[in-house]
Amino acid sequence: MSLLIKGGTVVTAEGTLDADVVVEGEKIAALLARGAATIGSAYDTIDATDMYVIPGGIDAHTHMEMPFGGTFSADTFETGTRAAAHGGTTAIIDFAVQAKGTSLLAALDKWHSKADGNCAIDYGFHMIVSDVNDSTLKEMDACISAGVNSFKMFMAYPGVFYATDGEILLAMQQASRSGATVMMHAENGIAIDQLVAQAIAAGRTDPVNHGLTRPPELEGEATSRAITLAKVADCPLYIVHLSASQALAAVAQARDAGQNVFAETCPQYLYLSIDDLARPDFEGAKFVASPPLRPKEHQDSLWRGLRTNDLSVVSTDHCPFCFKDQKELGRGDFSKIPNGMPGVEHRMDLLHAGVVAGQLTLARWVEVASTTPARMFGLYPRKGVIAAGSDADIVIYDPHARQTLSAATHHMNVDYSAYEGMEITGRVVTTLARGRVVIDDGTYQGSPGYGTFLPRGLNQYLL
Ligand SMILES: [Zn+2]
Repeated sequence: MSLLIKGGTVVTAEGTLDADVVVEGEKIAALLARGAATIGSAYDTIDATDMYVIPGGIDAHTHMEMPFGGTFSADTFETGTRAAAHGGTTAIIDFAVQAKGTSLLAALDKWHSKADGNCAIDYGFHMIVSDVNDSTLKEMDACISAGVNSFKMFMAYPGVFYATDGEILLAMQQASRSGATVMMHAENGIAIDQLVAQAIAAGRTDPVNHGLTRPPELEGEATSRAITLAKVADCPLYIVHLSASQALAAVAQARDAGQNVFAETCPQYLYLSIDDLARPDFEGAKFVASPPLRPKEHQDSLWRGLRTNDLSVVSTDHCPFCFKDQKELGRGDFSKIPNGMPGVEHRMDLLHAGVVAGQLTLARWVEVASTTPARMFGLYPRKGVIAAGSDADIVIYDPHARQTLSAATHHMNVDYSAYEGMEITGRVVTTLARGRVVIDDGTYQGSPGYGTFLPRGLNQYLL
């Protein structure tokens, strides 16, 4: 039997359309003029009257069960993808992590074994390259053949993930030969480490110092440097979790000059600030992530960047650590607080709140949350759009419902919410993943292992 989603307002990156959507199996079969499907065929029906019907969200930056600082992020692929589905996200792209001294393909195998059989929704991988050498560089092509064609590198975290400018250049040259994209964590980790050491030595150990020792200028500097290296290597570059107006200015300048430079930001940088890091009694630890939350004035430029497309994507960098036992590892020394925040469940809602607040249009909401990530990471038009032939990853969204974000009601496997008490207008009612209802009015109806691996093509925006 086919499924008919009727009466809703279909929202795509192009705008809105009053249409009914026909789903056959895992695919969208047709968009019909409202009411046109009532004659004849047998349909299961979902009534979407007064609702938006949108392509499922694609979160292109998550870290499920990621090792960091002697612990692991608290969501597994099972719990994290279930929470994502609750929030209207139907695909994630997570990061496989190459540990120093190991091979890229071994890391990829390891991440496949973590995710395989556990995901509620479809998933792909990027590859974190932390050890650049001849064999790693050769393996990048094998990763591309295996459906992983975006490689993340770090200018931060010396001694862990950090790569030198020379190593970055080599990896960019390699990526450039095949059209793969290098993703960059752009903060000057060498300088930051000095500031961190000075703060600790001076007894400035509270969580707010995490922000104070990672000034926005050092994100701006690293972003500019990454852009320059990418230009020399002629390599597509994607700046992850951009948080600072200085970095945005560098991206805008490169884009104006026609360079293949792209950037994402995250909801935490749009809504939270260093004031949250400064919350008393170690509560600021809940907000420790890198780059750090910035002074409020950066938020306006990030929203503007989303409107002007200098920021093309909003991802979450979901990397949850529980306050108890995990964040607490850094009591008395902010540099030992595991870096990361929960968010995979709330991205669609927080961006819809931006629509309600007049920061984004409806079409732009869908574009930055679904359509552009699909194109950027080689999943379009299978994902990211409501059109005949695409996967039936569909969210029915009530734009008028009210909800209050809270750890008491969220589905992420973490003991706090970064948005505790925040009131949101808008709520996911139904999430379909490849034609199957996985969330029905707040109830999970999916199953681990339903989600399949998504081999991806190249970035579809390259000039
Ligand atoms: Zn990340």
